[in-house]
Amino acid sequence: MKDKRSKRDKRIAAFVLFCHAMPVIGAVFAVIVSLLILTTRNRQEEEAVKEGGINNLLQMLDYIEPIESAAEEFPELDIQEDYLTVNEYSRPGTKLGKVNRIVIHYTGNPGTTAKANRDYFESLAENPVTSASSHFVIGLEGEIIQCVPLNEIAYASNKANTDSISIECCHPGESGEFNVETYNQCVALTARLCCYYHLDPETDVIRHYDVTGKECPIFYVEHPEEWEMFLGFVKEQVQSLED
Ligand SMILES: [Zn+2]
Repeated sequence: MKDKRSKRDKRIAAFVLFCHAMPVIGAVFAVIVSLLILTTRNRQEEEAVKEGGINNLLQMLDYIEPIESAAEEFPELDIQEDYLTVNEYSRPGTKLGKVNRIVIHYTGNPGTTAKANRDYFESLAENPVTSASSHFVIGLEGEIIQCVPLNEIAYASNKANTDSISIECCHPGESGEFNVETYNQCVALTARLCCYYHLDPETDVIRHYDVTGKECPIFYVEHPEEWEMFLGFVKEQVQSLED
């Protein structure tokens, strides 16, 4: 009788112990499963990083590596690098952040060359009558001079200076219309910049006029249909460069 009771007591005690141990067993089991899942996931992440995962991540964040030299980036355009000396009036040396737009200008000096306009910007260092410069000047023969590194701001587009690249175009006459050599190079350079900085020609390529209302580039302000046509050519080239 006593034996039977003690056996039953032992069984009850074992059952109670089992019931108390259940959460502990469950918790240990959960920890083991979690560790297994985490290890597998870490291994998958490591493999993704090895297979260009960082690039994918940067692409997701739309990170674009700042560049300095357009000649190096677009060798097919035969760009002449002739940087201004760092000075308060035309090359402040201020870092340019994210590039959100490209601003097109005309020089306003009929018949002058790209070099003459670049040298005018340089002269402002010694003779500061105003503040002015541009990343690029495109000449009447289609020559392109880069005056300011692409990772620095230029003094061309007023409040747009801090997030834009500027292109000045030479022109033969008072009308401000670009000749075919200047025009084609302007399209080619703008299209390449759009591709590099992931910009949309329809919304991110603008005239100086669109920033301040200044009549620059005058021919393309007075003839909005010509401006639309210019953007159309840029868009076409962007598409062909992306194919
Ligand atoms: Zn302008």
